[in-house]
Amino acid sequence: MLSLYLHTPFCRRKCAYCAFYSAPAGEETKDRFLAAMKKAIAGAAEEEKRPLSTLYLGGGTPALLGEERLAEMLQAVREHFVFEPQAERTVELNPESTTPALLQTLKDCGINRISLGVQSLNEEELKILGRLHDREVALDALQMIFEAGFTNVSVDVMFGLPGQTAETFGATLDELLAYPVTHLSAYSLQLEEGTPLAENAEPMDEEREEELWWLLCRKAREQGFEHYEISNFAKPGYASRHNTAYWKRTDYIGLGPAAHSFWKGVRYSYPEDLAAFCEKPWPLCTPQSVSQREAVEEAIMLGLRLKEGIPLEWMPGGFDYTRYEAFGRVENGRFALNERGFTLSNSIISDILYRE
Ligand code: SF4
Repeated sequence: MLSLYLHTPFCRRKCAYCAFYSAPAGEETKDRFLAAMKKAIAGAAEEEKRPLSTLYLGGGTPALLGEERLAEMLQAVREHFVFEPQAERTVELNPESTTPALLQTLKDCGINRISLGVQSLNEEELKILGRLHDREVALDALQMIFEAGFTNVSVDVMFGLPGQTAETFGATLDELLAYPVTHLSAYSLQLEEGTPLAENAEPMDEEREEELWWLLCRKAREQGFEHYEISNFAKPGYASRHNTAYWKRTDYIGLGPAAHSFWKGVRYSYPEDLAAFCEKPWPLCTPQSVSQREAVEEAIMLGLRLKEGIPLEWMPGGFDYTRYEAFGRVENGRFALNERGFTLSNSIISDILYRE
């Protein structure tokens, strides 16, 4: 299985909570970036002949490239790579840059899945996050996506926001899940050092955040979603194949500034530097081999994020399931965390891995 990730690092304005690398986007810069990306795609295809199982255009804000450049980038992928027949091809969109013309272009280029960064439908919460859209723009974008004929649609939401309550979060979930969305990603707010929000906000207290988490789990379940990964819910058959590649440690090539790869047992990462990427888009940078011990730890850490868990034989010697009975289950030779275990996954995983 092979996945390809193309990272567009441009954002119109920095969101108040975001610590990801992003760069200003002038027209010339975008042209240079596109030329570099096409070289990187061609370079990767020279060395990798397997068909693509998944393609993901993320960012940043891929839509800021504009329809023509996006079409050119996707054309380059199609020229150089073969896709598996049922390949998942996702583009990440922000509501304010979603238009019918853009969606039509993406459809014409073979995109079959949209991931929309809604985060909240509450005006106050959106302002605190510094997002560029309001609730009406988000709902319009969602409507446009379905009208354009996309049937595999994911929405992102956030919880643990300053001032957020069970009522406001519940209302966001109810309204979003009333649409035929097939996938829901829900992340708790992390106050990243150096971001405006970290300077101005306090983390939500654990009890309240847990209340929101259980609300999320319940509402998703009631709407027929399976909680297949700590932060992700899907209707049957719609788990994200691309993200599952990360959790299952299958090969993925990530192209673009700050993009990461895991390819043939080696990790790579491009520096957070657009100019450096444009200068030398291929080969992949900063190879970092993964030792046997690191591979085992990674497999356990990532695998326990998934509802299906991991084979018992991956567990360190002396693993005693009874210690975690309240947080997981053993079934068909696998150990998996339950929703209660998901809430404590970091401490459970470190207990499993590093307990003497
Ligand atoms: S659009 Fe995404 S990548 Fe850009 S600043 Fe906002 S959260 Fe960060």
